[in-house]
Amino acid sequence: MNGLMMDMPLTIASIVEHAERINGDGEIVSVTADNPRHRYTYREAFARARQLGDSLTQWGLARGDRIATLAWNDYRHFEVYYGVACTGHVCHTINPRLFPEQLVYIINHAEDRYVFVDPDFVPLVEGLAEQCPMVQGWIIQCSADRMPQTSLPNAICYETLLEKGSPDFQWPALEERDACALCYTSGTTGNPKGVLYSHRSTLLHSYATMMPDALGIARRDVVLPIVPLFHVNAWGNPYACPIAGAKLVFPGSKMGDGETLAALINEEKVTLSAGVPTVWLGLLAHLKKSGQRVDSLERIIVGGAACPLSIMEDLDSYGVSTRVGWGMTEMSPLGSANAGDSERDKYSTEDYARLRLKAGRPIFGVEMKIVDDEGKALPWDGEAFGSLLVRGPWVCSSYFKLEDSDAHEREAGWFETGDVATIDADGYLAITDRTKDVIKSGGEWISSIEVENAATDHPQVAEAAVIGCYHPKWSERPLLIVVRSSDGQDVTAAEILASLEGKIAKWWMPDAVEFVDELPHTATGKVQKLKLRDQFSGYAFKA
Ligand code: AMP
Repeated sequence: MNGLMMDMPLTIASIVEHAERINGDGEIVSVTADNPRHRYTYREAFARARQLGDSLTQWGLARGDRIATLAWNDYRHFEVYYGVACTGHVCHTINPRLFPEQLVYIINHAEDRYVFVDPDFVPLVEGLAEQCPMVQGWIIQCSADRMPQTSLPNAICYETLLEKGSPDFQWPALEERDACALCYTSGTTGNPKGVLYSHRSTLLHSYATMMPDALGIARRDVVLPIVPLFHVNAWGNPYACPIAGAKLVFPGSKMGDGETLAALINEEKVTLSAGVPTVWLGLLAHLKKSGQRVDSLERIIVGGAACPLSIMEDLDSYGVSTRVGWGMTEMSPLGSANAGDSERDKYSTEDYARLRLKAGRPIFGVEMKIVDDEGKALPWDGEAFGSLLVRGPWVCSSYFKLEDSDAHEREAGWFETGDVATIDADGYLAITDRTKDVIKSGGEWISSIEVENAATDHPQVAEAAVIGCYHPKWSERPLLIVVRSSDGQDVTAAEILASLEGKIAKWWMPDAVEFVDELPHTATGKVQKLKLRDQFSGYAFKA
């Protein structure tokens, strides 16, 4: 017997309708190329998204056609998110930091019909346009008087385009399983792969991120997403904030600029922010240098990579509580969150330090398990390492245009994350490695992430990475590769190794330390271990 409840599709357009009516006065503040502080309301934003939607319908596109963005976090990018998805098209956000060949590959693979481009990226796309024959037009995100001189074929001014549409435009009826957004994985090996989100998956994920033990987004919050709109939907913030009515603050191209971030936090009274660990390093460096504080900022969500304890402790000293989140492009992205901060009193100082480094507990809606090489489920004892498999309504079931491949599925119905993890009896997940990066010494796994975390605790270590190198007896042993901090140019290998004692298992102790000026990073800021392994390919330890 079916329940007798209404069958309303879960679509992104319903966020617009809710926010217009209930949270219309909520504010969006942006830093853009042409305005250091643009501000308007959700009501105005969505009126413009409707104008955009109306203009798009005049182009004769088919449902499901992809329309791309190459843009910073600002209000126009936010409008494109909604204007494109709510008219039944797919908003394909592209990471402008990818190599030009990858950009061309992604645009052609997605068959993007139009691309919205921030004025900053016009020179970049001018160099690619000829190789993207399917793109029919490039929309520059600026007003008519700011239109750059460009060789782009069919360059369209964003504001002029909007003028052609009506703010009263009504969204077409959509199905909840229709695709709404597309994001390619940054892929350290092989070609990037497309993850195609549906209205339903996006809406359910947005609800989930708002839960108190996840991001806990409320109407009273002022949210500064430092995670880019081109990286997994800015962790859902652009959807969750209008649902809650929280004020949104977009830093434009200034995501890596500690001074602008501190100014935005203080002037706009930001309470919650989200970003990868390096962003917080930039902010902290500015705060230390300037003596400024960020008193309105209550909490931050850090994810995308393991967060060193030193960053959390520095943020503690500014009264900012840190919550680690784990997830991936294929998971919309959120899979787990560490709300240990809300139970601080339950733990001793040492236990709390250990706990907060973990990736947290699965959020409702995401199921997890860890399995061994034979696919056997491993116990949740905090000790057993295994390949992490997940499933849930906002987890990818196959990649775009690779629907027949099950390469990502070790077991039917479960997505293989490519991460190696432990899970403890309380459900706390700890990511120890990427599957490709594990170090196996004498048949036992060494967690490179734990060793890296311990190494970056040393005040004169700016960044650290651990890779496995050949050892005649143990097959592999860990090599620690370190970037010294600007005031730590004299720190020695012996001093760094001594600082690890007592923090990691004795047999995890790196056999050697090498110093480099910088580590290779992917476009989303992750250390490229493959490149490091190439760089140190001749490195071998003696028995
Ligand atoms: P992406 O798809 O670019 O967001 O990358 C996802 C990957 O980033 C995950 O599979 C992890 O390897 C890594 N990652 C994300 N969050 C964390 C975290 N809190 N701790 C360790 N690794 C993380």
